[in-house]
Amino acid sequence: MNCNRCAEPAVMHAAYSGAHLCEAHFLESVEKRVRRRVRRDDLVPRSATPDNPQKWLIGLSGGKDSVVLTQILYETFHEDPRIELICLTIHEGIEGYRDKSLDACIELTDDLDLTHEMLSYEDEFDVRMDQVVEDDPENMAACAYCGVFRRDLLSNYAEDIDADLLLTGHNLDDEAQTALMNFLEGDVSQIAKHFDASLGPLSERRSSEAFVPRAKPLRDVPEKEVALYAHLRDLPAHITECPHSSEAYRGEIQQLLYGLEENHPGTRHSILSGYEELAGIVAERYDADGDDPDLRECTECGSTTTREICRKCSLLESIQAV
Ligand code: SF4
Ligand SMILES: [Zn+2]
Ligand SMILES: [Zn+2]
Repeated sequence: MNCNRCAEPAVMHAAYSGAHLCEAHFLESVEKRVRRRVRRDDLVPRSATPDNPQKWLIGLSGGKDSVVLTQILYETFHEDPRIELICLTIHEGIEGYRDKSLDACIELTDDLDLTHEMLSYEDEFDVRMDQVVEDDPENMAACAYCGVFRRDLLSNYAEDIDADLLLTGHNLDDEAQTALMNFLEGDVSQIAKHFDASLGPLSERRSSEAFVPRAKPLRDVPEKEVALYAHLRDLPAHITECPHSSEAYRGEIQQLLYGLEENHPGTRHSILSGYEELAGIVAERYDADGDDPDLRECTECGSTTTREICRKCSLLESIQAV
């Protein structure tokens, strides 16, 4: 089968759009989707000028998603004096896993000459995920601890360096899963929060001064296409799965979505676009009701939280009590 746009052989077929694309046209189509998302989410505000550049912090794990995001953002903005890109890698303390992906991060940022920082749970919190999993004081999945710690480091670092935006490599599959999980859990306030935190166009979000806004410009690209992009461009992405990966419910939803997508191509796209529209309406409604949670400073670490002690500090307390 040849490419729909030229006479070259196709390297991929997207059932959801019917497109067959050659390598060059496939790469271009991924890049176009990311740039279109950057525009639609208003990520570059008018106030950004060469004298007042925007500082964008990219959460770079070394996996295919964040590597592809970094590469495309670099190619889009490295000659644009309005945008400054900085990469941050979080080391969770997972033997034989994060060390390899850290190598991928270093290779990529060296190649692109991007500023790269690394923070570890060990240095920041005096914990390693391997040990947390073994002790498991709260009887939870590894990712439930790990996600809290990662979010804390990413958002605190973003605040420390005065970043304007925190970007992560969530792809279409990730976001369609989250959307479906929020629906199935019936958690409408979570849907509103999701919109304000990382989904809606920046100009439409209820902005909270307390948090650096997040963005996910890769969320129109299916996971398989992100992987193919990384492979075709020979990007230094590390693809082994984390040995503690254990989000059982997410795994179930992922399988469900694979099946639906197979029989009804386009399902992930329609879930996410419908969800985003609804989430925007819900966020506005919550705003109009003035239903804002009381934000305060954690008495232990000073992070912004709705409780007296933030979730990270209470998890650290129970880990240290083991
Ligand atoms: S899969 Fe879970 S435990 Fe492993 S790095 Fe990701 S969040 Fe942490
Ligand atoms: Zn072509
Ligand atoms: Zn705290």
